[in-house]
Amino acid sequence: MASFFCRHCHRHKNFFNYLHKKKDTLRIALQSKGRLNEKSLELLCEAGIGIDDTGRKLLSRASNFPIEILYLRDDDIPQTVSCGIADIGIVGLNEVMERDFDVDVLQHLEFGKCRLSLAIPKYMEYTGPEFFEGRKIATSYPGILKKWFAEKNVNCEIREIAGSVEISPSIGLADGIFDIVSSGGTLVQNGLAEVEKVLESDAVLIGCPDMDEEKRQTVRVLMSRFTSVLRSRGKKYMLVNVPNDKIEEALKIIPSMKSPTLLPLADKGWSAIHAVIDESEVWDKADRLKAIGAEDILILSMEKLII
Ligand code: ATP
Ligand code: MG
Repeated sequence: MASFFCRHCHRHKNFFNYLHKKKDTLRIALQSKGRLNEKSLELLCEAGIGIDDTGRKLLSRASNFPIEILYLRDDDIPQTVSCGIADIGIVGLNEVMERDFDVDVLQHLEFGKCRLSLAIPKYMEYTGPEFFEGRKIATSYPGILKKWFAEKNVNCEIREIAGSVEISPSIGLADGIFDIVSSGGTLVQNGLAEVEKVLESDAVLIGCPDMDEEKRQTVRVLMSRFTSVLRSRGKKYMLVNVPNDKIEEALKIIPSMKSPTLLPLADKGWSAIHAVIDESEVWDKADRLKAIGAEDILILSMEKLII
């Protein structure tokens, strides 16, 4: 039976015993290193889950929540969750769609945003999906691409390669490529133009379809914490003093989640409004509030927004 040397206890351990799951502990699979690793751990940490020794082991346990973390390559996360070795996982939607294992997509986590696109040399004229009929396309995502072309009734030759997909047209390996794009800079550097956006992707929380009810309950708690973390990102807390006869006007400028918090000031004739606003709107709202006579506008960072 396979074994490995544990760097922490300096003993050989049986791999399968080590991975043996506790019934009452939820197991989440995260990318061990790479683009999603840091943001996934950050999300858990902001959700109040204390993990020490992050990423240096195969498994680590949270100190204050019934969850343990299994660190894997992102390619392996959908299968690991599908067969229940991990109950849940965080992975790019692109990997979930490509691997096509039976998992539930439980929540979009709004980081690791990218898209999977078709691109061709920029000097060529693109005429629509039929452009690719009989042509060669290099990609590391053959599954998603095959499905897309089947829907479009286009027959093309898919050349699966592991990396450096973007150089394939210039070395004569393919006529076009299907690859991950975020800013588009790599395409431009390689003389390529993006012609079809096939899939928008971000990191998603996935779950094993066979999870028992006790674990599902823990997952619901976790998801609600994630929602709070995601909602508070990019938000600021605004306090503003407004003359009482301008309250109605001020409330039109400041939206509010339910009804606004309105507090009378010691100075009669004035009130304070408290509101949560988007960071991107802070200056615009402040200028408009000042223009109607508001004073002492205070903008504070928001730690959490628990609803
Ligand atoms: P692993 O070693 O775990 O297999 P990897 O090299 O396959 O990692 P990364 O490059 O770390 O994968 O990317 C992980 C995920 O990050 C991608 O599958 C995708 O969902 C997302 N992502 C976001 N932006 C980009 C980008 N610009 N390039 C590649 N992936 C991106
Ligand atoms: Mg990978």
